[in-house]
Amino acid sequence: MTTTTGPSAVPAPPAAQDPFLPRPFVVRRHRQDTRDTYTLVLEPVDGEPMPFAAGQFTMMHAFGAGEAPISISGDPARPDLLEHTIRDVGAVTHALVHASPGDVLGIRGPFGTGWEVGTGAGGDVVFVAGGIGLAPLRPAILELCATRAAFGRVLLLYGARTPEDILFGDDLRRWAADHGIDVQVTVDNGQHAWRGRVGLVTQLVARGGFDAANTLALVCGPEVMMRYAASALAERGVPASRLRLSMERNMKCGVGLCGHCQLREVFLCVDGPVLTYDVLEPLMARAEL
Ligand SMILES: Cc1cc2nc3c(=O)[nH]c(=O)nc-3n(C[C@H](O)[C@H](O)[C@H](O)COP(=O)(O)OP(=O)(O)OC[C@H]3O[C@@H](n4cnc5c(N)ncnc54)[C@H](O)[C@@H]3O)c2cc1C
Repeated sequence: MTTTTGPSAVPAPPAAQDPFLPRPFVVRRHRQDTRDTYTLVLEPVDGEPMPFAAGQFTMMHAFGAGEAPISISGDPARPDLLEHTIRDVGAVTHALVHASPGDVLGIRGPFGTGWEVGTGAGGDVVFVAGGIGLAPLRPAILELCATRAAFGRVLLLYGARTPEDILFGDDLRRWAADHGIDVQVTVDNGQHAWRGRVGLVTQLVARGGFDAANTLALVCGPEVMMRYAASALAERGVPASRLRLSMERNMKCGVGLCGHCQLREVFLCVDGPVLTYDVLEPLMARAEL
């Protein structure tokens, strides 16, 4: 399967390295972000940095519990520090988020395609994030901030379930204040103290504020949210080839062998997780694919 996001554009594990062999990484920092979401900062035990592209993921291994695909949420300019933001939903993620500083985890990867935010230079960029979907977008936002002058208007439209579920609050403030990003946050349910917007993130897309024909749109969140956001962006005139989504499916191998993440001819672990809407639209239109 050939896509507009060529695998050659992103780092892959060295050919000599067995892609099934986890590399040991030590947990350096552990932060609780929300009631069920945590960020781990890891360092390679062998001191060898792990270059990655924004949007790529690793297979994170909690010894004795198992392995899960998790997107990298850190800064691509810091390949010496590997950052992951993880929601505690089951056995493996529970073991991962309860790792303590000094514990060793296994890492395979990096795997998959990237956001390629640089392709948006010269135009506007719209990030649309739902829930923990902000974590896989964070490296692309950091990359954009490092070369902010190359881009036009930049919008970050972010929807969370409640104000308590909002991730990376300090980042959101800094991206707006220091980098001129138009950060718009909305929640599904706001309590009395919440003075911000209540409603779906897709409603923010409809408000516009970007030059659609010359916009790169990067979308990550629950699949139903991505479906509505992508169709709203396409309706406003963002070309399908400049609209990228990060897809999630159950994954086991991460290298295109096991077929767990197959969507018709697409293997999400190698052809994705980031794919353009012209590739994804027909796949997303098919129920239960
Ligand atoms: C490319 C990719 C990147 C991801 N990035 C992140 C990330 O940055 N942070 C994060 O917290 N999670 C991420 N996930 C999801 C994460 O892999 C799953 O939550 C994890 O595998 C669940 O494993 P578990 O053993 O903890 O739970 P399980 O007991 O296996 O599952 C718990 C619940 O989660 C569902 N689930 C399991 N795997 C997935 C999956 N891959 N996608 C959607 N639902 C699933 C199950 O159906 C079940 O309802 C990513 C998934 C993929 C494919």
